[in-house]
Amino acid sequence: MKEALFWEKVPDKKYIQCHLCPWNCKILNGKVGNCRVRKNIDGTLFSLNYGRNSSVNIDPIEKKPLYHVLPGTPILSIGSSGCNLHCKNCQNWEISQRFIENPPYKTSPKEILELAKRYKTPSIAYTYNEPTVFYEFTLDCSRLSNKENMLNVYVTNGYISKEPLMEIAPVLDAANIDIKGFDEKIYNVLCGGGHLEAYLEALKNWAMPENKIFIELTNLVIPGWSDDLDKTREMVRWIIDNLGPETPIHFSRYFPMYQLDAPATPLETLKKATSIAKEEGMYYIYVGNAPELGMENTICPGCNEIVIERRGYRILKNNIRDGKCLKCGYKIHGIFS
Ligand code: SF4
Repeated sequence: MKEALFWEKVPDKKYIQCHLCPWNCKILNGKVGNCRVRKNIDGTLFSLNYGRNSSVNIDPIEKKPLYHVLPGTPILSIGSSGCNLHCKNCQNWEISQRFIENPPYKTSPKEILELAKRYKTPSIAYTYNEPTVFYEFTLDCSRLSNKENMLNVYVTNGYISKEPLMEIAPVLDAANIDIKGFDEKIYNVLCGGGHLEAYLEALKNWAMPENKIFIELTNLVIPGWSDDLDKTREMVRWIIDNLGPETPIHFSRYFPMYQLDAPATPLETLKKATSIAKEEGMYYIYVGNAPELGMENTICPGCNEIVIERRGYRILKNNIRDGKCLKCGYKIHGIFS
């Protein structure tokens, strides 16, 4: 447990207010915020999950998914508990929808850095549950490991307020951000009360050039929720206008999960979504959770050749040198060294 950042005492009120994410929760004494892991204890806000890790693993970076950041390298991946959204289809609901007081690992930022060094991972991911809700721990780990030239990565729903984002941005190198769909209903109903507009504002903050955070996006295509292809087109146009056409996008196949009763995404829908992204002018388009479609390779926008060939999380060929296509010299968007 550690005293939280980004909260205030509200004069003449019985509650304190957290400003870490757009919920801006008003929290009475003895109560927790909407994420279940930030608690008002006698007028001070505490991060309950600081150093309480539900998972510590070494994953291929492709699993995050990040396809344009140090391809083919391992990444130390840590999670805690809690989330500021409550998606009915959450695949990690066992850790995200509650506070885990006694998780399998209790660590310090120094121990996390030592682990990364021992296992020679060039990067650390804050993942599995929403990193924003263990912000203080991710900030301390990132500051420490940044001094040792290690990259730090968020795998996030993106739902964070501007001030905390700007605070961590200097030591955060990359993020895979969920873009759940272009429909208020998805954030408000499927994800338990968020707002599309607040999310899009947050995404613009993530993409501010001064933040220098490399971004890839993931859009989970769920039948009946985020498979309206007109909305997909609207979303892609917004991404091109606000983040740029070179932003890699991963359309991900949905399989039934947790409380949501919807069928698996038809492959045809995923193919149509990728065609729309291509028509609109996005450069790097992938499909996840559907290896049968073979849409995991990076194609050079300059010469149309495969520059990175993937099978699942494995790299079969990497024709990028010094960030450029080996054949035509086109600069591929990403962090390659
Ligand atoms: S981080 Fe948690 S407590 Fe703070 S505003 Fe968001 S949901 Fe509420």
